[in-house]
Amino acid sequence: MGTDIRVHQAYAGRVLHGAGARSLVPDEIERLGAQRVLVVAAPSSAEVAEDLATALGERYAATFGRPAQHTPVEVTAEALTLAREVRADAIVAIGGGSSIGLSKALAIRTGMPQVAVPTTYAGSEATPVLGETENGVKTTRRDPALAPGTVVYDPELTLSMPHGLTLTSALNALAHAVEALWDTEASAATRAYGMESADGILTALPAVLDRLSDVVPRGRLQEAAWLAGACLAQARMGLHHQLAHVLGGTFGLPHAELHAMLLPHVMRFNLVAAPDTAARLARVADGDPVLAVSALAALHEGPTTLGALGLPRTALREVAERVAASPYPNPRPVTADAVEELLLAAW
Ligand code: NAD
Repeated sequence: MGTDIRVHQAYAGRVLHGAGARSLVPDEIERLGAQRVLVVAAPSSAEVAEDLATALGERYAATFGRPAQHTPVEVTAEALTLAREVRADAIVAIGGGSSIGLSKALAIRTGMPQVAVPTTYAGSEATPVLGETENGVKTTRRDPALAPGTVVYDPELTLSMPHGLTLTSALNALAHAVEALWDTEASAATRAYGMESADGILTALPAVLDRLSDVVPRGRLQEAAWLAGACLAQARMGLHHQLAHVLGGTFGLPHAELHAMLLPHVMRFNLVAAPDTAARLARVADGDPVLAVSALAALHEGPTTLGALGLPRTALREVAERVAASPYPNPRPVTADAVEELLLAAW
């Protein structure tokens, strides 16, 4: 195939969005023709899961309430046993990337259709990707069958996110959009998603942080996060996601906080080599995009440096060498020295 030919592959065919949209989940289940729903819900969504169970009536089969980060295979096995016991024929996953990851792991093993009801901005519901851990080793697979066929975005379910998770999860989403924008092979549609997403996050996030329980800016932010998830699905991720994968995987650092603190540093490094993206982001940031994102990241009340997250200084060189040895596609060439300098600034 010629290098000028771009492929646009979309996922998650059916997306509902709006305050109260979760009340339509039973209709979506009926539409799928499912009779026995397994609900997968994080503890933070236990009440919503109970309400949904009631609303599903005879179509409700059981709830699995203990999804875990990075989808450990033992947890999947436990949930699979429950799914078989209750003869489940569809999954509704409520929660962040951990709940949706478990849903994907069950779907790929059973063929059950999934309805995802995200409560963070991580974006997993929009992707055909699953990371699983077994004996501490994380492997990632990509398969169109992993992508939930239906996604229900209800901004009311995001109101409970505290300041810290709201901020770091939104910057996690922004990272998907920014990396799609500087991916030289992204399609026109993906670039449009990236711009709309970056604009939505940069304008809605300050309003959300001011008024955490106002559903209107929350809705705008969630819509922007949806598009960011689509960017993650459709574009090639670069240095930012590689650093997040290596640091998160090797040192078990928390997903969203890690993304939030790395993003301004990777933007400072990459945007000099991606002048088009820099100019476009400057328009939506209404100024220097690196300063805008740094200022947002600095609002975090938790750790804002890799050192504060617990990464030892001595690890930086080794991480830099690993990243430079097999870099993800990136607009600026990646050397061990440059990555070490970037990491030191973030440390
Ligand atoms: P998460 O799902 O682990 O949630 C983080 C914490 O926030 C949990 O304790 C959860 O209970 C709580 N929480 C979730 N929603 C809440 C809400 N509305 N109010 C209050 N608390 C809430 O974290 P995440 O950042 O959403 O997802 C991270 C995980 O998802 C990682 O394992 C990551 O690898 C994976 N992920 C995968 C993809 C993919 O495409 N495969 C994409 C993004 C993230």
